Amino acid sequence: MSSEHHRIIILGSGPAGLTAALYNARANLDPLVVEGTQPGGQLTITTEVENFPGFPEGLMGPEMMDRFRAQAERFGTKFAVGDVESVDLSHRPFTLKTTDREFTCDALIISTGASARLLGLESETKLMGYGVSACATCDGFFFKDKKVLVVGGGDSAMEEATFLTKFASSVTIIHRREEFRASKIMYDRAVKNDKIDFLLNATISEIHGDPTGGGVTGVTLESTNGGKNSELACDGVFMAIGHVPNTKLFTGQLEMDEKGYLITKPDCTYTNVPGAFACGDVQDTVYRQAVTAAGSGCAAAIDAERWLESQD
Ligand code: NAP
Repeated sequence: MSSEHHRIIILGSGPAGLTAALYNARANLDPLVVEGTQPGGQLTITTEVENFPGFPEGLMGPEMMDRFRAQAERFGTKFAVGDVESVDLSHRPFTLKTTDREFTCDALIISTGASARLLGLESETKLMGYGVSACATCDGFFFKDKKVLVVGGGDSAMEEATFLTKFASSVTIIHRREEFRASKIMYDRAVKNDKIDFLLNATISEIHGDPTGGGVTGVTLESTNGGKNSELACDGVFMAIGHVPNTKLFTGQLEMDEKGYLITKPDCTYTNVPGAFACGDVQDTVYRQAVTAAGSGCAAAIDAERWLESQD
């Protein structure tokens, strides 16, 4: 397998990775972005982005990411399709392998983001794609005039539920507590929507249905405050219970916290391995916004550029 060398490789193509690429390309560092299995990252499966500064009318997530990409490309960023399967950070240049290619680089920027968290039920895995989903924007269309559930109490749950009312006849938000993590504006929007109701202090302990026979038919709800378990009929279940960082590749190589988020040094994007930098949701346990991801992508690009200069 032949090897292709770049001064900087950026893993991931969400707001963090593409901002890093834009800055590094403008610094003539010949960056290569390995796009990953979800080019454009999580914003490509969201609806309207209303809180990215500079877009007062809002912008659809996929269009925003097309613009990020075009801007990075304008200054010479190269892109490689696919996912990296292994990384060796034990010596420099670092080595990265995809299924059919090998790359080496002097500096690596990790912006692999995070993926939807699931409940971890066997029935959830079995029915994924057959009524169970973690992406309302992708699958909402299939639930026209159906009854669906959305699990979670954060902004994602409110956003997914509100979006689903375009198709579904009713949407029930299932949340394990009475307090919500969601911002007030998103929560209020869901509360005001006639098609949305809330079922609190409950979790789903089982999802019923048959993948070959029409998909999801209902769920078993477990009370979280000592109440009785119950059954609820529905046609679909959407998970909106947060995310897990995509850091499997770096196990044993980079320092992570107990949830698997990469640890960066205070006030910068340095990881514990010199030459490897992390930005965006893969290292952000607090903000997780498109604009903060983009900001940390910029910081990683500057850190990497200065680090490379110091090596020269
Ligand atoms: P989140 O804020 O972490 O909320 C996750 C929710 O899922 C919480 O309510 C949590 O319950 C619940 N949950 C977690 N694990 C669970 C389990 N095993 N069983 C049942 N419930 C479980 O995640 P998010 O809603 O995806 O939001 C992540 C970040 O993205 C936030 O910063 C948010 O503001 C941002 N975001 C912004 C927008 C927007 O502005 N348009 C849209 C979406 C997301 P507990 O509350 O009990 O922990």
